[in-house]
Amino acid sequence: MTAEMGKKEKISIIIPSYNEEGNVDHTAAVVTKIMEENSIPFELVFVNDGSSDGTWDRLEKMAERDERIVAVNFSRNFGKESAIFAGLETATGDACVLMDCDLQHPPETIVEMYKIWKNNDIDVVEGRKADRGKEKKAYRGFSLLFYKMINKASGLDMNAASDFKLLDRRAVDALMRMPERLTFFRAMSSWVGFKTEKVYFEVAEREVGESKWTTRGLIKFAINNITSFTSAPMQIVTVCGVITFIISLILGITTVVQKILGESDAGFPTVIILQLLTSSIIMFSLGIIGFYISKIYEEVKQRPRYIIRDIVRKNNRGDS
Ligand code: UDP
Ligand code: MG
Repeated sequence: MTAEMGKKEKISIIIPSYNEEGNVDHTAAVVTKIMEENSIPFELVFVNDGSSDGTWDRLEKMAERDERIVAVNFSRNFGKESAIFAGLETATGDACVLMDCDLQHPPETIVEMYKIWKNNDIDVVEGRKADRGKEKKAYRGFSLLFYKMINKASGLDMNAASDFKLLDRRAVDALMRMPERLTFFRAMSSWVGFKTEKVYFEVAEREVGESKWTTRGLIKFAINNITSFTSAPMQIVTVCGVITFIISLILGITTVVQKILGESDAGFPTVIILQLLTSSIIMFSLGIIGFYISKIYEEVKQRPRYIIRDIVRKNNRGDS
């Protein structure tokens, strides 16, 4: 083996799909057309993330008809992160591209990513949002704050990052070797390093249906990812401890001084303030620690990230 570039032919396009019956056929057709026009060898890996609509029926039919389409079916909804990792594990290409099923990630950009990867010694081509598309104000503010925290804590610039990425086989294999159960693809794919190039894309509007995110889901996603990528919130506890220690030291000294000067008796408010301050900080701290303990609990269980019910692949059905 030399340190030359690896094989650079086929790309696997991984598309997590959750309740996307109105999108899957159209998305497959659009992507196939663009790949054919640019003579890019490809396969499409659709991962049905436990949809409750007709998504799987459609995917199954597509995969039976077209040997370039692979359909993976989860036993239930495991979330987009799990779908991404299942896609990466199933993919056979020399590079993998991740895109959304709703065509918010413009498929033309895949051609651009492919060319950068093919013609240069580049392992990762990262799609960055040129603008954030049509998002609610609250959502925008929220995601800005979330990424500020992640950036600061992890040292990775995640602001305009998206899941829309091309990863060379090398980077895919590196990701596959990361054993954690609670994954955050966006950050993990930066963490592995490799030679990275950026392309910018405009976030298109969703084709059919609605965004699958609920406010509750988003908050959960943010907290999960902050806690799985940084232990900074745990340090908040230490900082709080130091601050209260200083405050109680000052208060303690003044109380003693007052006692010596015979001005005591008026200390009652101080007691109440101290009581409230410390108990709130203790509760807050316990909450944060509890969060990390629940994470550790999740990880030590070593459950699989997802469970596959069926895989449909035309060319090697029945064998292997
Ligand atoms: N998705 C998924 N599992 C889920 C939620 C979403 O596989 O539990 C997929 C969805 O089908 C789509 C992509 O993740 O292909 C992005 O979802 P969505 O468009 O709802 O998110 P947004 O674009 O609003 O961030
Ligand atoms: Mg979308």
